[in-house]
Amino acid sequence: MRVQGERFTSIERNLPTAADGRVCGEVGCEAKLSIYNDQEFCALHAPMVVPRMRGKVLDD
Ligand SMILES: [Zn+2]
Repeated sequence: MRVQGERFTSIERNLPTAADGRVCGEVGCEAKLSIYNDQEFCALHAPMVVPRMRGKVLDD
């Protein structure tokens, strides 16, 4: 059985982790993603997650 350790470098590029030069996953959107942003979409297309207010609803 042969172990091909050298191969792993190319696999790393396909990992869905923050990498340099990624763009938004939305079709047609080419917004660049920060390497610190580990999400698939840019701020515009990120799924909206609204933090639930605990208990009372704040109405103005
Ligand atoms: Zn986008």
